[in-house]
Amino acid sequence: MLSRAASAAAEVLTGGRGAGMTHAWLFTGPPGSGREEAARAFAAALLCPDGGCGHCDLCHQVLIGSHPDLETVRPQGLSYGVKDTRRLILRAAGAPTLGRWRVVLFEDADRATEGASNALLKAIEEPPPRTVWLLCSPAPDDMMITIRSRCRVVTLRTPTTAAVAHVLATRDGIAPDLAEFAARASGGHIERARRLALDNDVRRRREAVLSIPRTLTGVGDCVAAAEKLVKTAEEEAAAVSSVLNEAETTELRKIYGEGSSGKGLNKGLVRGGAGALKELEERQKSRATRLKRDVIDSALLDLVAFYRDVLAVQLGARVELANADLHHDLTALARASTPEGTLRRVDAIMLCRERLAANVNPQMAVEAMTLSLRRP
Ligand SMILES: [Zn+2]
Repeated sequence: MLSRAASAAAEVLTGGRGAGMTHAWLFTGPPGSGREEAARAFAAALLCPDGGCGHCDLCHQVLIGSHPDLETVRPQGLSYGVKDTRRLILRAAGAPTLGRWRVVLFEDADRATEGASNALLKAIEEPPPRTVWLLCSPAPDDMMITIRSRCRVVTLRTPTTAAVAHVLATRDGIAPDLAEFAARASGGHIERARRLALDNDVRRRREAVLSIPRTLTGVGDCVAAAEKLVKTAEEEAAAVSSVLNEAETTELRKIYGEGSSGKGLNKGLVRGGAGALKELEERQKSRATRLKRDVIDSALLDLVAFYRDVLAVQLGARVELANADLHHDLTALARASTPEGTLRRVDAIMLCRERLAANVNPQMAVEAMTLSLRRP
């Protein structure tokens, strides 16, 4: 579908009708299914004179995000607001610098607020002739129906364990055994699998999370486990945030002339600098909250996979276990509990994810969960 559309798009550029090309696309699929990668490859196909050869300078620029006609939007905070969206729409409306298309790749478009979505809808309804919108979201339902109905939807699936292991082994040169383990443990999420295979810290954190179920015997253990999980997430998020924040703040101060003598600095510029700095701080705060939430969520997904394995053992289901390396823990827990109990535990984890998404205090939400996970 995408390569047909890219050929049609090339036809449009030479004055043809280009049936099969459309200016608004929605890439959906579960996390790790490669939504952004697919959208980026399509952007390269539109912007490269060879239909996305993958080798030329223009393709390279698209892949690293420096192509002048590609605008990548990656919401860093909890939401993407109407002010940012209006600025984006303005930039997107310009004529393409290199004469082909102007492409907007909007990652996590589901984070657009209602106001932002309405602005986006208007831009998609009345598109400039050469602007192409590539929106990405986990499920079509995450987008307003009015936006969805104006987009061509590309639906991606979670790749199989074998496919993920193959990519890790051939693309990243990871040893087949490790690739296989990482692919299984990450449930088909290529990026998580890659980090798991390459980063010792990530592997250690996974082990720590998966050791939680066997420690939950008394109420005190549950409270302690919750506290530890939240604290580790906070530390990890803070480490990532501080690196990002520092670079951004230095960059912004430089733009507004700090560090020079200050003489001759226009007053308006100084005021503008203070405003921009405040705006940046707010964005950074929102991103830090999101980072922490994402870290906890990824731990919760590991726990879901663990109890799903317990259930598979209890039911004697012939499915691949995500945590085959923890076979001893799995079978011990499977014997000590019932399938109904395991399902209740999975529900408790999913409820915790919902609560976190709804802004419940993480410590309280996680504690309620670990108490429900208590061993029989
Ligand atoms: Zn190319």
